[in-house]
Amino acid sequence: MADNKFVYFFGNEETEGKNSMKDLLGGKGANLAEMANLGIPVPPGFTITTEVCLLYLEKGVYPEEVIDQINNAVIKLEKVTGKKFGDTENPLLISVRSGARVSMPGMMDTVLNLGLNDDTVIGLSKKTGNDRFAYDSYRRFLTMFGDVVLDIEHEKFESALSAKKKTLGVIQDTELDASALKELAEQFKEIIRKETGTDFPQEPRKQLQMAIDAVFNSWNNQRAITYRRLNNIPGKWGTAVNVQSMVYGNMGETSGTGVAFTRDPATGDKRFFGEYLMNAQGEDVVAGIRTPEPISTLKDNLPEAYARLEAIYHKLEDHFRDMQDIEFTIEEGKLFMLQTRTGKRTAAAALKIAVDMVNEGLIDKRTAVTRVSPEQIDRLLHPTLDSQAEFEVLATGLPASPGAAVGKVVFTAEHAEEMAKANEKVILVRTETSPEDIGGMDAAQGILTVRGGMTSHAAVVARGMGKPCVAGCGSVTIDMASCAFSVSDVTINEGDYVTIDGSTGSLILGEVELVTPGVSGELDTLLSWADEIREMGVRTNADTPHDAQVARDFGAEGIGLCRTEHMFFGEDRIPAVREMILAEDTEVRKAALDKLLPMQKEDFIGLFKVMDGLPVTIRLLDPPLHEFLPKHEELADKLRSLEAEKGSDSEIERIKKIMERVDSMVEVNPMLGHRGCRLGITYPEIYEMQVRAIIEAACELKAGGMDIVPEIMIPLVSHVNELRSTKEDLVEVAESVMAEKNCKFDYLVGTMIELPRAALTADKIAEEAEFFSFGTNDLTQTTFGFSRDDAGKFLPVYIENSILPSDPFAVLDQEGVGELVKIGIEKGRSTRPDIKIGICGEHGGEPSSVKFGYNIGLNYVSCSPFRVPIARLAAAQAVIEKQDN
Ligand code: PEP
Ligand code: MG
Repeated sequence: MADNKFVYFFGNEETEGKNSMKDLLGGKGANLAEMANLGIPVPPGFTITTEVCLLYLEKGVYPEEVIDQINNAVIKLEKVTGKKFGDTENPLLISVRSGARVSMPGMMDTVLNLGLNDDTVIGLSKKTGNDRFAYDSYRRFLTMFGDVVLDIEHEKFESALSAKKKTLGVIQDTELDASALKELAEQFKEIIRKETGTDFPQEPRKQLQMAIDAVFNSWNNQRAITYRRLNNIPGKWGTAVNVQSMVYGNMGETSGTGVAFTRDPATGDKRFFGEYLMNAQGEDVVAGIRTPEPISTLKDNLPEAYARLEAIYHKLEDHFRDMQDIEFTIEEGKLFMLQTRTGKRTAAAALKIAVDMVNEGLIDKRTAVTRVSPEQIDRLLHPTLDSQAEFEVLATGLPASPGAAVGKVVFTAEHAEEMAKANEKVILVRTETSPEDIGGMDAAQGILTVRGGMTSHAAVVARGMGKPCVAGCGSVTIDMASCAFSVSDVTINEGDYVTIDGSTGSLILGEVELVTPGVSGELDTLLSWADEIREMGVRTNADTPHDAQVARDFGAEGIGLCRTEHMFFGEDRIPAVREMILAEDTEVRKAALDKLLPMQKEDFIGLFKVMDGLPVTIRLLDPPLHEFLPKHEELADKLRSLEAEKGSDSEIERIKKIMERVDSMVEVNPMLGHRGCRLGITYPEIYEMQVRAIIEAACELKAGGMDIVPEIMIPLVSHVNELRSTKEDLVEVAESVMAEKNCKFDYLVGTMIELPRAALTADKIAEEAEFFSFGTNDLTQTTFGFSRDDAGKFLPVYIENSILPSDPFAVLDQEGVGELVKIGIEKGRSTRPDIKIGICGEHGGEPSSVKFGYNIGLNYVSCSPFRVPIARLAAAQAVIEKQDN
């Protein structure tokens, strides 16, 4: 509380604040001071600091000095303006507005024309020679004071105003003459008396005090609290109060008021953009009572004021070096600036403005990289709902993969594929997806699941494909028998249109207009600047050459995770995979694996080729084997129909055998069951086949001159012995394949760190592992003890009740899971200082998690292809933020 200074004057050469004082003066107060410092005409006034807000809200009273400082500031204001507060000849009128550190549009309260009462209104009328203007100001003040300070429903005043217009047969407020407005003022005072039980306070100093109290109290009104929660604004910031002498845009036909942006906030185009109203006050523009005119016409209406405005907006942009959102008032031809702030803009505009401003020499590349958020990049890469469209959200699930999609509802992957072949757009609706649904997911515009979290199969695969997905939409009930789903009492049949928004998790009935953003060359430019700054590598999670190519085009520097299980589901492979699983002895299993070998080898050749010498991490098979087998119910159906149709005994026997095997493989907790390296240990021939395929693929490409260092990754290791034993086998296979092929090259064997025990014993694991990749999906699951697939049932409630700040499967829990990652890195490097460490869980493409990863010393992040640009930008911003702190 430096010097116990609570009130800062602005508006002339004695201005006490500046724009670096936003924490104390709020954004509006600091920028008003800065404009005054720049010699830009600002109606004089003073700012009461955010510290006062906090003291007042805590204690309910003001420190003694505050009242004195406010009184002195009013006296100074009287001196500077030559008017007097409460005077009946030349009254000083003021506005009282909130102004937090960051702008919270419309969230808190404003009172204009304060200081008017039954006497000063006469003074105002005499001084201006404008009776109508004086009473117009008075009735506006009574409305605002009644609404904001006295908490009377705005509607009460509005209906009296409408009734008056109706009686007089007029439409516009501006058509009301002085006597009508005078009568209205009387009616408004009566409303106040009736609603509060006391008279409207005539004493201006009392009005001022009450208005200041109201603005401070508005910091804690419900809509401000909600806005803060949604925008991560801490409650302890408080708001400042700006008390400013009034200027009038409603003084006649040479007066007006407007809002404008120094560049187009939708496209980023360099053109002055805004609107204004003649003979009006600020709230008329904002409230949309009258239709404002485009700013370009001001040039003809008031050319001199327009020229001054043009000069000022250039000056402001040059000074703040960013697009500004300004408010101005013209009082009888004289221009005043009421506000300037950094303008909010669309993602496309943010990108264009950042790149243009570097080209114009206004900012440097480093600054440009901070001007676009990774979330905005995300929006630029996916279609979104048209912001003009009107729709009702039927149900909400998890925002599992961004972007919006429209299509006809289908319930099976096969149907999705059929419809897509017939050029129909479909949304695949499933209880949950399984790897068998891949084809249908690929064919669909978007995916909706009833169950499953942010790292469920649907979410992971959809993100990989860059397809919108809403997961875990629990209020949807699918009835396969009638080919329909329902949400409460609404039924949606197969073939009906729905729209999903994977950025918000919304399910909407019918077709909503979509907007497809164009990815411009500016994105490449900005990301190339980000690449110059970032220190951490960005790889991709990809298991097909197509996805790998998409990721490379987005700037991926290698593959950090190839989930080989996704390769086992191809139509041409599944019979051999099933044969392999159902095999009763090793020989039969090996024979089945031999069939898969050439296909796997081709898979790896495809990936290596696309990556053309960049690192490729191939993870050996991870999921439980039963995922590759048909479901019990499907088999039971088949058996029933075979028996009914008197099918062959051998076929019936075969199906029964499969059923037995399927049943024997059922696990209570498959996520914690027979998967990962546990599979490799119990069925070593599976990993042997995969390693042979990797090494053979590399040998073949090496022979063609390509430089490849394959990275073989073992999943779900918890004890170093698991890795040691698996690695021994693998190395033997790799060496023997190289000897066979007469080819020698380096390869790495590393591991996923995705179980707490692995992180805690990473020093021991690093004795064997040549690299680590943190599987933060499983690590989150096992650290919290939350099932990846079922957490959707309770996590939304956790987040709504602030038990957790966000879904830990989407945003890394830095305090818990992050601590394990930190421990894992430290311990790993204590054994093997140069060990390469990355992260390949879904957090690898989430901005805050990427930044955290940089700060704890990761070498790279790996994420789905469409998140590569996001990770590149976030990684660069992490460097800048670290340097700036
Ligand atoms: C992980 O667990 O974070 C991971 C990348 O592996 P998966 O999602 O395939 O289990
Ligand atoms: Mg995992």
